[in-house]
Amino acid sequence: MNSLLTDRLGRPLRDLRISVTDRCNFRCRYCMPPEIFDKNFQFLPKTDVLSLEEIAYLTKLFVKTAGIKKLRITGGEPLMRQNLPYLFSLLNEIDGIEDIAMTTNGALLPKYAKELKENGLNRVTISIDSLNDEKFRYINGRNIGVQKVLDGIEAAKDAGLQVKLNMVVKRGMNEEDILPMAKFFKDKDVILRYIEYMDVGNSNGWKLDHVISKKEIFSIINKELPLEPVDANYTGEVANRFRYKDGENEIGIISSVTDAFCSTCSRARLSADGKLITCLFASGGHDLRDYLRNGATEEEMIQRIIDIWSNRHDRYSEERLKNTDKRQIKKIEMSHIGG
Ligand code: SAM
Ligand code: SF4
Ligand code: SF4
Repeated sequence: MNSLLTDRLGRPLRDLRISVTDRCNFRCRYCMPPEIFDKNFQFLPKTDVLSLEEIAYLTKLFVKTAGIKKLRITGGEPLMRQNLPYLFSLLNEIDGIEDIAMTTNGALLPKYAKELKENGLNRVTISIDSLNDEKFRYINGRNIGVQKVLDGIEAAKDAGLQVKLNMVVKRGMNEEDILPMAKFFKDKDVILRYIEYMDVGNSNGWKLDHVISKKEIFSIINKELPLEPVDANYTGEVANRFRYKDGENEIGIISSVTDAFCSTCSRARLSADGKLITCLFASGGHDLRDYLRNGATEEEMIQRIIDIWSNRHDRYSEERLKNTDKRQIKKIEMSHIGG
């Protein structure tokens, strides 16, 4: 098997994002609003969650089925999952995997970065939406100070991990932080990526007015720190890249809302409870866990993955602005898929 597996729009299956938990130590208001994700919220019961061995086995099948080379571990907050370094060691043993990355809020990286690197993690993307401590404490809904994440960034660098940063930009939340973030990280050997606020899930009260477009973000930075475009590293790279004209570092802007990139979307997502999700904005996923637990053979599992991917025709972001009704449909929450 190889990467000739394509969906109904001709898109190959190239990367796999694996959510290892739906739980999180933060309650970012745009992702897991604390009023909804409160103490009564029903997270997945333990028995529903894939074991680390099941995750590694399914990953191996994805490699066999489609020749996947790149993995990203996410959550919820992946560092909340017990024994995570062991998962990296299992994934690292799979023939064909060339790159393992993780997206994290960074708060627990001082504790785990070194061990994760030793077990095969190459790169981390750390989320940080403001440098203003008071605002950061408010956004994360748990009163966690920004220094914790800055320490996480340092710990990742010290461990030899490549570091990128994600900043979700939402009008009324942190637009005034766009420029200070650019200035602060410009000479820090990390690539900062701005993300347009997306209507993932149904609980974050998303409105189009909340979105600060790629164009606006670019112009805010470019006025003070002139930028020029850089070619994409590879087909399907989601961030538009820009380099500072003075030669120091680059930034990325991810414009899922105002400039969708569905036509090159080659990402499959595996949820913590073993569902294959073919789009970030899907209403549901396709079960793999119960097939596996009910004794499906390797050939049957591979056939299931092929059937799901070859029937895929999602292109939500391209349709979002034309079809506002679509936005009302039930969608999986971000904390369940992991971005
Ligand atoms: N907990 C980890 C973290 O925050 O990095 C990993 C999971 S989180 C869901 C993955 C990424 O999605 C984070 O960078 C987060 O900021 C981003 N995100 C969450 N909700 C979003 C939204 N509505 N629009 C855009 N990005 C969002
Ligand atoms: Fe947790 Fe990440 Fe969502 Fe924030 S964005 S609530 S850190 S899963
Ligand atoms: Fe991919 Fe769906 Fe996002 Fe389009 S909307 S880029 S198909 S995940």
